[in-house]
Amino acid sequence: MKQYETVIGLEVHVELSTETKIFCGCSTKFGGAPNTHTCPVCTGMPGSLPVLNKKVVDYALAFGLAANCHINQLCRFDRKNYFYPDNPQNYQISQLYVPICRDGYIEIETPAGKKKVRIHEMHMEEDAGKLVHDEWEDCTLVDYNRSGVPLIEIVSEPDMRSADEVIAYLEKIRMICQYLGISDCKLQEGSMRADVNLSVREAGSTEFGTRTEMKNLNSFKAIARAIEGERERQIELLMEGKEVLQETRRWDDNKESSFAMRSKEDAKDYRYFPDPDLPPVYISEEWMEEVLDKQPEMQPEKAERYKKEYGLSDYDAGVLTQSKVIADVFEETAVLCGKAKKAANWMIGETFRLVRERGISPDEIHFSPKHLAYIIDAVDKGEINQQSAKEVFEKVFDEDIEPKAYIEAKGLKIVQDSGLLEQVVCQVIEKFPDTVREYKDGKEKVLGFLVGQVMKEMKGKANPAKVNEMLRSKI
Ligand code: ADP
Ligand code: MG
Ligand code: ZN
Repeated sequence: MKQYETVIGLEVHVELSTETKIFCGCSTKFGGAPNTHTCPVCTGMPGSLPVLNKKVVDYALAFGLAANCHINQLCRFDRKNYFYPDNPQNYQISQLYVPICRDGYIEIETPAGKKKVRIHEMHMEEDAGKLVHDEWEDCTLVDYNRSGVPLIEIVSEPDMRSADEVIAYLEKIRMICQYLGISDCKLQEGSMRADVNLSVREAGSTEFGTRTEMKNLNSFKAIARAIEGERERQIELLMEGKEVLQETRRWDDNKESSFAMRSKEDAKDYRYFPDPDLPPVYISEEWMEEVLDKQPEMQPEKAERYKKEYGLSDYDAGVLTQSKVIADVFEETAVLCGKAKKAANWMIGETFRLVRERGISPDEIHFSPKHLAYIIDAVDKGEINQQSAKEVFEKVFDEDIEPKAYIEAKGLKIVQDSGLLEQVVCQVIEKFPDTVREYKDGKEKVLGFLVGQVMKEMKGKANPAKVNEMLRSKI
């Protein structure tokens, strides 16, 4: 049987987290009442004029520089003309002829080692509004709050060969954006969207096959399934001696299959031309320097610093810095309790366990570092045992409760009253005379059993070291 290779190139849209839109002063906040974040510019009123938001260029530059791109110091905006009700001007302002960035790359980790995925270009553009289909009223409504929200579109070369590589690439883009603070890249909320271009070819062939483009993918899982499904569909066509048609397909994640939306449109179909309302943007050397100077600590440097400053292993530092949110929570906890290694263990152990169990992304954790720091301190001081600590942390993880109050309310505090402990120790000694004799005869091991009995009587709320000590002295 013939072997086939999958070839994938991505077009990724990232919504930039500027306060205001790309060409007007309206808010970019997600989720306001429909059409409340709008003005004549972003609703395409005749006579209104766009004014470029400098922050958008700052953010685009920050990404371009982080992704090793060549910067076009004189770039322009073009009109991409098409009619659709979510697009009130009947054109989208984008960049075709001279985009802000070209020829970069992003490095990903693969089982075979590091790999560079080349970036063909990256440009700035505006987002469209949202259509809301109302099944009951049998009509469609439009919300222009998203119209004019700034985007960057990152177009890769067809350098990826598997779903794993695609996901590694997307995760890397998300990581860079989060570290730069230019986007939260939430696939579910649409602040990061990926269109997947995919073709297959016989292994060893140097020519690319005909590709299709899949849109409407809003989770990594959907992307992985879509890639697998489309790869199989294309291979089947080729094996039957049929042709793959170049078209845009919509992946239906529920049906786990894709269907054709439209044949692929060309740039010429959009009748692009330079936008006469916007002057070209000149990016001086100073401007680039300024953006570079402001660039925050990125993942590799942060991981290095964690190793040096906190004495963490290579592995721990790597895991903790994959998500900026996780890194921030870890570091604040470590500073608050002064125990970096323990803070790291709580993040890598319990936090990631709960992230997996709750089926959320690490970026979605929302507990206060001071609450985890409190738990770490409480265990250290012997106030609660490890098992109670896990119980309290789970509550903190889910609801960010006040651990102190919870420990008290649930009576999880280890009993410090040595009178009570002494009483229980004596009871246990009386109850198990044979075991006590064995211990006296030199069988050290049986002490563990007695400690266990005391702990059981105390319902776990005793300090095992203290129990141990008291047993020895009493016997
Ligand atoms: P268009 O201008 O029609 O959008 P591009 O040439 O700019 O097409 O490519 C769009 C995306 O498709 C890019 O990410 C590119 O890497 C990818 N691509 C191009 N050819 C192929 C192919 N044969 N197989 C897979 N992906 C491809
Ligand atoms: Mg394209
Ligand atoms: Zn506006």
